[in-house]
Amino acid sequence: MRKEISQLARDNIRKLKPYSCARYEFKGEASVYLDANENPLNEPYCRYPDPLQDKLKGKIAEIKHIRPSQIMLGVGSDEPIDLIIRIFCEPKEDNIAAIDPTYNMYKVCADINNVEYRPVLLNDDFSLDAERLLQSVDDHTKIVFLCSPNNPSGNALTREEVKKILSAFGGITVIDEAYIDFSTHPSWLSELDTYPNLIVLQTFSKAWGLASLRCGMAFASEEIIDYINKVKYPYNINYLTQNFVKWNLEKEERKNVWVQQLLEQRAILLKKLAKIPFIEKIFPSDANFILVRVPDPESIYDKLVEKGIIIRKRNNLSLCNGCLRITVGTKEENNKLINELEKI
Ligand SMILES: *Cc1c(COP(=O)(O)O)cnc(C)c1O
Repeated sequence: MRKEISQLARDNIRKLKPYSCARYEFKGEASVYLDANENPLNEPYCRYPDPLQDKLKGKIAEIKHIRPSQIMLGVGSDEPIDLIIRIFCEPKEDNIAAIDPTYNMYKVCADINNVEYRPVLLNDDFSLDAERLLQSVDDHTKIVFLCSPNNPSGNALTREEVKKILSAFGGITVIDEAYIDFSTHPSWLSELDTYPNLIVLQTFSKAWGLASLRCGMAFASEEIIDYINKVKYPYNINYLTQNFVKWNLEKEERKNVWVQQLLEQRAILLKKLAKIPFIEKIFPSDANFILVRVPDPESIYDKLVEKGIIIRKRNNLSLCNGCLRITVGTKEENNKLINELEKI
């Protein structure tokens, strides 16, 4: 049974009267701004930025075919991950569940907020068993975190299994789609109106090539977005980032070309990795990275480091025995990696 958002949110958050900043109280165009104690002598940088990033959201809404009111922008996806836990989970009382293995930030944010974290194993091929996940939730489970395509495994979770969770779980379901641009699976964004307790996360850090800016997106019902906006720092996205992200959105085609190039490189890399004798298994990828299994991940990692090539050890995660994660780089970078692997 679906629970109402107001029923899921913590009491103190529901009652919270948020900080009201100057740029929030007066919206519109004026010629003289004497309301925010700014130093007026360094235009435009002396002005506080738009706290709700209206122009940028307008452009995102256009591209994503949703309403601007369904968007929250954060300092990376990390900000909404933390805020969602803080809004819905009473420390030491509520809990969250997540697939395992997955992106570690959900657990770190749960730990910081003193909220119990329940990892639920995926199947050996990293597919989702919705029943297993649903069995591990209880009345105090406020949020389920899914990640699709999943990091570090690279696979997208199937629609049928995700749908089972969206239909049966009464709390908030978060689907982290950081890698959606690299996947053949469709986004869950178009289902926001069907599932009022769904939050979809995306980011400018991967396909858009803007990891240094720290800008992430949360998409959800207006009611959820209002809660997140109430709790976030008023001026979380600075002026330069707002403008530069908007400029990048206007050049969307450039992103699409990059994605095509990386998908091509991924296909080439998959073929070449398959010829490396000591690689036991290559997991299929819907993302811009590839997970492989080797007998001795530590020594392979060390040998690559010696050559100045850094990949990621993932062998200590659940179901990831012997696993290394390789990001798809440029053609030259991938060739260098393959060259060194061939010599091992
Ligand atoms: C890289 C990644 C992100 C992006 O985080 P940002 O804070 O937006 O840079 C989010 N989720 C997953 C699963 C990731 O791998």
